[in-house]
Amino acid sequence: MDLLSDFPPFEDEELRLALADAELPSLLPAIAHLTGDTAVLADLLRPAVNSTPLGLEPQGGLSAEAQDLARKHAFEALRSWNSQGRPDRRGNGAVELEPILEFITGPADADSVALHMSQLGLGGETSWTKAAVAPDREFKVVVIGAGMSGLAAAYRLRQAGVEFVVLERNTDVGGVWLENSYPGCQLDTSNFSYSYSFAQQASWQYQYSRRDSILAYFQRFASDQALRDHILLGCEVSAARYDEATATWQVTYTDPDGSVRRMTANVVVSAVGQLNKPSYPNVPGRETFAGGSWHTARWDHQTDLRDKRVAVIGAGASAFQVVPEVAGEAEHLTVFQRTPPWIMPTPTYHSLLKPGLRWLFQHIPDYHRWFRFYQFWVSVEGRRKYAVVQPGWAKRDSVSPENEALRDGLAGYLEREFADHPDLLAKVVPDYPPYAKRMLRDDGRWAETLKRDDVTLVDDAISKITPAGVVTADGSLHEADVIIYGTGFAASEFLVPMEVSGRGGVLLHEHWGGEARANVGVTVPQFPNLFLLYGPNTNLVVNGSIVLFSEAEVDYVMACLQEILAASAGAMECRAEALEKFYARVDEASGRMAFGVAGVNSWYKSASGRVSQNWPLSTLEFWQRTRRPDPDDYILEVRHD
Ligand code: NAP
Repeated sequence: MDLLSDFPPFEDEELRLALADAELPSLLPAIAHLTGDTAVLADLLRPAVNSTPLGLEPQGGLSAEAQDLARKHAFEALRSWNSQGRPDRRGNGAVELEPILEFITGPADADSVALHMSQLGLGGETSWTKAAVAPDREFKVVVIGAGMSGLAAAYRLRQAGVEFVVLERNTDVGGVWLENSYPGCQLDTSNFSYSYSFAQQASWQYQYSRRDSILAYFQRFASDQALRDHILLGCEVSAARYDEATATWQVTYTDPDGSVRRMTANVVVSAVGQLNKPSYPNVPGRETFAGGSWHTARWDHQTDLRDKRVAVIGAGASAFQVVPEVAGEAEHLTVFQRTPPWIMPTPTYHSLLKPGLRWLFQHIPDYHRWFRFYQFWVSVEGRRKYAVVQPGWAKRDSVSPENEALRDGLAGYLEREFADHPDLLAKVVPDYPPYAKRMLRDDGRWAETLKRDDVTLVDDAISKITPAGVVTADGSLHEADVIIYGTGFAASEFLVPMEVSGRGGVLLHEHWGGEARANVGVTVPQFPNLFLLYGPNTNLVVNGSIVLFSEAEVDYVMACLQEILAASAGAMECRAEALEKFYARVDEASGRMAFGVAGVNSWYKSASGRVSQNWPLSTLEFWQRTRRPDPDDYILEVRHD
């Protein structure tokens, strides 16, 4: 809960002005929560929960009259609260949150309410501590990686009083947000949902933050939560070996001096991410190129692109952000697009949040939480229907009537944007269903960039790279001084290049044989006390956020640790049958989602074409599965020490 003292009093006129920019479906619940007066939650002002194919109805679909009324109620309630000395009625359960949540969500069952409450982030501590469960036991956890997931794990481990060390190969925390410093790098999901429920922030300037502010958020979090004392920077893990005799892991890593070191732990939590091993195209002659070349995630800040002919290979999320920036700098830019992306029109993609909204976040305690909650709610299951395959649907570029309506809306956007350039329009409209690959966001900048005289969009296949540039299948040489690879990551190669050996010395990557699988995305049979965060099948496409999922996975790991400690067990191992049962459901469900359709390649799939990255079911189901480990899924092994 926000401290009242952090929110200054205000003048009536400031409030009146700010309310013009308010997002009403979340402001009214925030007022009810703050004042304890639910009169503002009138039925007439209840937001619609359905989204349209191209996104949300502004202001929850409220009519202009209803919006005026909502602002009037909001003004009266907040003016009265301010003039009465701003009493704080939020604490001690005095204000019942459930009916306020249901103003947005409608009636909800107990599990849903618990999920919704967790997203408000008003709870806090973990439900157990090591001191209470196993005070005398020596027990240590090694977390690998200090990005978004690793920091969440560190936060919960510290709260529970479990000894832990985080080994991070980079020189600071932040994971992909540290590694990706390419021009234009920013969030294309809302920073409200791409931030922890337990560390919400009222001071966001943008809805889609620039790389520096999201990196600063994670770095500040690590400092504020005293996590840095537990983090060893510049330490890259090369191997982890399970020792059955002692039920411990030996973790081998290289320290900043280059010395190889070992650390023993009861538990290893891998938080190495999915999107950090740059993937380069397997094009003949790549190494012969005479100019400079680099991957978007390894940006060369020393090379000045002015007066250079630059080639960008790729048109995925990273290239899409880089291209407009490089276009303004290079002498000429050639974009090599193999497959065009679907683009969600997002007029606010590069805009500051409206000033009145930012003012309200700074003056109305907890409003930013309700704003975040409303975004969570409408994105959680609301858009899932657009990605679900209708059985028997026979069209190639859509998977259902809803998906087709979305496709038509998105294609219409491209037709409008490129109406004056039919040559470009012919290249930019995808021929696959929306949500088969990752959807991108745009506020017009993509079309503006591709239409420039000094930019060329090439959609012929690349046949080779020569010292002089890129040659396409029609034999044309596209001369370049610099090649930038926006060609993505080896996402399905989980935990590569670490050598991880489990029970009986079985190697994780041999065990997986190219098909990474983990129960609930977290645990692997034959690898006791190894837990994966953002592991197989935990990436999100339409419903929810990966931060929510990482938090849920951390909750699951913490519940497993509690089991191990409470049972005085040596190790906890997932049963092979549990994994098979889990994947019978997950693989079947993937086949019913747009991203599972055959014939469309994406980083969501392994080399065999199986969806190895994404969660295909509801967010609620993942959240339910991660509350506690199912005892039938695990073997608890007695301790040997
Ligand atoms: P990506 O989505 O995998 O895109 C790679 C691009 O390179 C695609 O256009 C791909 O074409 C192309 N490509 C790959 N090999 C090629 C070849 N041999 N010849 C020609 N083109 C080739 O990778 P990414 O753009 O780095 O993004 C990966 C993920 O990172 C995103 O989906 C997202 O989850 C995350 N990301 C997030 C943000 C953010 O704003 N939050 C920003 C950047 C990245 P095909 O489509 O034909 O394979």
